[in-house]
Formats: sequence, structure tokens, C-alpha cells
Amino acid sequence: MNIRKALLVKPGAKVKLSDYDPDDTLGHKKGEHTDAKTDKACGRLDSLQYLLYAEKKHALLAIFQALDAGGKDGTIRHVMSGINPQGCVVASFKQPSPEEMAHDFLWRVHKVVPPLGIVGVFNRSHYEDVLVVRVHNLVPKEIWSARYDQINSFEQTLSANGVTVVKFFLHISKEEQKKRFIERIDDPDRRWKISQSDFMERKFWDDYIKAYEEVLRRCSTQEAPWYVIPANKKWFRNFAVSRILVETLEDLKMKYPKPTVDVKDLKWK
Ligand code: ATP
Ligand code: MG
Repeated sequence: MNIRKALLVKPGAKVKLSDYDPDDTLGHKKGEHTDAKTDKACGRLDSLQYLLYAEKKHALLAIFQALDAGGKDGTIRHVMSGINPQGCVVASFKQPSPEEMAHDFLWRVHKVVPPLGIVGVFNRSHYEDVLVVRVHNLVPKEIWSARYDQINSFEQTLSANGVTVVKFFLHISKEEQKKRFIERIDDPDRRWKISQSDFMERKFWDDYIKAYEEVLRRCSTQEAPWYVIPANKKWFRNFAVSRILVETLEDLKMKYPKPTVDVKDLKWK
């Protein structure tokens, strides 16, 4: 079955993440064959970005969300590795600054939406405002619960203005998270990444899962679909994300613009 179809959250579908196996590979096998396909998809992404830039009718916004150690950084590094850096902008969303807090939650997000011709990548996003904010009651329920509809309207506005939005939830198991934390502790080059809050947040695992399920149910839309990527196996995660991005861009049926001059009339001196 086509990976993109298989991993899509159908708009309005009720999602139970326990029904999704984070080890799933949809029958694909680890090895050179799949790695070659991933490399090919990453190369194709570069060509498609060039076309996106030439045509300037669309932008692509790829949003990555995951629990800690879910692999957002690794996916972005791997999948975007072939893209011309001039054609790509990455934005990471941390705890809001006082200035950001003084504005509506979409203010800091809208500012960094990619312009036409550019691929934008969000490492975390406005979804934090219905995830961490909900789990830790950072604002009252009536405020965060109204945000699902606000997010859908925002993304519809982007879509109607040429920004193709695609959203990935990198789904790992709680055991896999623990394994990755232990690997980080053991690896002197990655130990710096560990924070106390990563361990504290594990206590809220079930609350995060519930919050993600509501996001997936309420905010996977025709214009801005969510994909649940089984992400315990990094090779499959990279393969799936790169394929979905390629197919999303291919669907835009982009064409190089006609030259502005008649090449036959060009005169050489
Ligand atoms: P890494 O740990 O891999 O470097 P990260 O994305 O986890 O990357 P951190 O600096 O560890 O980066 O964490 C950013 C934190 O900011 C996360 O805990 C996230 O939940 C929090 N955050 C992001 N957006 C908001 C928001 N709108 N309100 C409150 N907290 C937020
Ligand atoms: Mg972190």
C-alpha cells in the first residue's frame, strides 16, 4: 500500500495511538534497498524545491511534532540534507519569550511561515499551544480548547494563499524513549542534550498521548493533513517522511515558467 495513504490521518477520524505500532515498517525491510530509495527521495526533494523556487506559486510548510527524543532533529537533518540551504528555512519553537507571550499564540508562527518558492520546516509549532500548554494547564481550558478551530482556520488561510501544509507526528514508544535517553547519557557527544525536564515530562506521557490524539482527530484536514509516522526505527521514519514530502510536492504539478525573453532573439556580442 502507498505509504502516504497508509499513514494519513483521515479528516475527522478518531485516533487511538495505542492502535498504531511505533515499530511498524509497513512491510519494508531495513537495508541498502530502502536506504537507496530514501536517498533517491531526498535527491528528488532538492529538484522539487528548485522547481518550487522557479515557479513561485507555492510554498511548502512541513511541521514536525514528537515527544522528547522522538527524532525531530534527526529527521530534519536527514530528510533536508539534500536541499539547497538557500531554499529552506527552519524554525524551532521553544518556550515563548515575554514579547511572544504578549501576543496571540499564532503571532510568532505566522511571521516565520515560508514565502512562496521556499520550503519551511517547523521543529515544534503552534501545536505546542494545545499540547504542553494543555498538559500543564498553562492557560485556562476555555482558552486552549478554542485553539483547535483557530489553528484550522489559520492553516486554511495559509493553504488558500499557496502554502501547502503537511504535518508529521513522529510516534515512538515509551520504551524507545527510555532507550534513547540512556544512549544519550552514555554518549559523551550527546550528553549535553539531556535535561531534567525530559525525565520529568515522562511522567506526563499518557496526558501527552491524549493531547496528541485530540490534535490528530480535530486538526487533520484536507488542506493540512497529519501523518502518524511509526518512528521507533529511524531508517523507516526517514524513508516515510521523505516519500510523503516528495509526493506532496509532486501533487502540485509545478512547471518551470516560460523564459521572459525569446531565446532565439538573444544576441551575443
Ligand atoms: P532538543 O531537546 O532536541 O534540543 P526541543 O525542541 O525539545 O529540542 P528544548 O529547548 O529542549 O527543545 O524544549 C523546548 C521546550 O519549549 C519544549 O519543552 C516545548 O514543549 C516548549 N514549548 C514550545 N512551545 C511552547 C509554548 N507555546 N508554550 C510553552 N512551552 C512551549
Ligand atoms: Mg528537549
